[in-house]
Amino acid sequence: MNIARLLQRSATLYPDRPALLVGAQPWLTYAQLGARAAALAGHLRQQGIGPGDRVALYAANVREYLEALHAVYWAGAVTVPVNYKLHARELEYVLRDSGAALLLVSPELAPAATPVAPPGTRVLVLGAPAYEQALRQAPLPVQERAPDDLASLFYTSGTTGRPKGVMQTHRNLLAMTACYFTDVDDVDARDAMVYAAPMSHGAGLYNFAHVLRGARHVVPASGGFEPAELLDLARHVGRLVLFAAPTMVKRLVDHVEAGDGTADASGFKTLIYGGGPMYVDDLQRALATLGPCLVQIYGQGESPMTITALAREHLLDRAHPRWPQRIASVGVAQSLVEVRVVDAAGAPLPVGEVGEVVVRGETVMPGYWNNPEASAQALQDGWLHTGDTGCLDADGFLTLKDRSKDLVISGGSNIYPREVEEVLLAHPAVSEVAVIGQPDAEWGEVPVAFVVARAGAAPDSAALDAWCLAQMARFKRPRHYHWVAALPKNSYGKVLKTALRAGLADAQDSR
Ligand code: AMP
Repeated sequence: MNIARLLQRSATLYPDRPALLVGAQPWLTYAQLGARAAALAGHLRQQGIGPGDRVALYAANVREYLEALHAVYWAGAVTVPVNYKLHARELEYVLRDSGAALLLVSPELAPAATPVAPPGTRVLVLGAPAYEQALRQAPLPVQERAPDDLASLFYTSGTTGRPKGVMQTHRNLLAMTACYFTDVDDVDARDAMVYAAPMSHGAGLYNFAHVLRGARHVVPASGGFEPAELLDLARHVGRLVLFAAPTMVKRLVDHVEAGDGTADASGFKTLIYGGGPMYVDDLQRALATLGPCLVQIYGQGESPMTITALAREHLLDRAHPRWPQRIASVGVAQSLVEVRVVDAAGAPLPVGEVGEVVVRGETVMPGYWNNPEASAQALQDGWLHTGDTGCLDADGFLTLKDRSKDLVISGGSNIYPREVEEVLLAHPAVSEVAVIGQPDAEWGEVPVAFVVARAGAAPDSAALDAWCLAQMARFKRPRHYHWVAALPKNSYGKVLKTALRAGLADAQDSR
């Protein structure tokens, strides 16, 4: 089934319900959203774009985003969502690799994007006169698609190496949507999914569950993540559902805590965090400040949004004897996938042992676009090898350690940077931290830390060293502290450990 049927269904069943709000202002009903997607699909067809053709979408979180996305599925074509924070040169790579026939671009990005569109890639600017013209085309019926036909190409955020195009099928996205209802949140028609994180990534993928239930979608006027604006929307729109990276949750909590006590988070129905590690200290603060709305998911483009989930009842069950361990975990396998921890040969490991996390099920990609070697490496015997390491407990809760390449091996002992980072983050002078391995003649590698001091705190490496020595094995403590103003992050807010490693190597070379 074509995933565009979800919007077609809601446009028929709930024509008068509000579908899209810009800020707190209603803009489109479901009937209007469906009609615009069908007309735009008609335009794509008229331009010769049909089933299987790729259409890139390089746009900030603008009000046309959802209709453009659904129009591409509606026409049977394949969306290639590109993070608007990427540089035009990175966009060019994606356009060439995917062989996009058309680039849909938001107006402010068009001047940079248009010149890099390869010959043969047409460009249509969202909201421009030609776009408004396209919306007047005769509507196209939803095109037939088989479950294993390609729906999207998602370019991995590339904290390592070149981005690879993850092939996501209609089956993958439909299964992801089913898991949303069973493992993440039940959706009510009054809910309002607010797009503060890039719609090209997880936030955008959660549109489907909300379209299916005929709930509201809110594009913030700022188009991004502004804590004050979100709290305002929580007050005026209410029942907000937000997908946020852990760094965003932290900023929201900071904002509420720093306020005059009037900031009220009760207008948030659900705040789903994931995409990177949430440190326990930050989570405890979030639970205290934001209350019972938090849910965690762990996924990756290769099994979109769907590996494990830590449900709100687990986060809130403080009386459970293993609550402290559980809130440090990423939860249990979502309902349509199987999750294992395996050794280097792919054999399942016993409870408590650390190995690579693998996943199998309806959400797992069939492979990478035009990249059989990488596909064969990632998919072995039907299991997706995530590149993340972790361990399972007896109840099936998965605790992530690190991406396998982030592991530091010092004198033959494994050091999981996450563990050291958790300890350092609990120190009052530390705002952010990243621990990596530095090549060392004696030990092979030693851990070193990059630290951002909390506002008003003085850098004091000796104090951190004493703090670590009091709480962890001696060999795990960082041998050097680099105090920095900010950590390098990619456009999704993930810390770029590759950049930190490259910086260390350059510094050593120049000595
Ligand atoms: P991406 O494919 O860009 O979504 O990146 C996926 C990667 O982000 C995963 O393989 C993990 O390394 C990391 N990740 C995603 N969710 C979580 C989470 N809840 N906790 C820790 N790391 C996560």
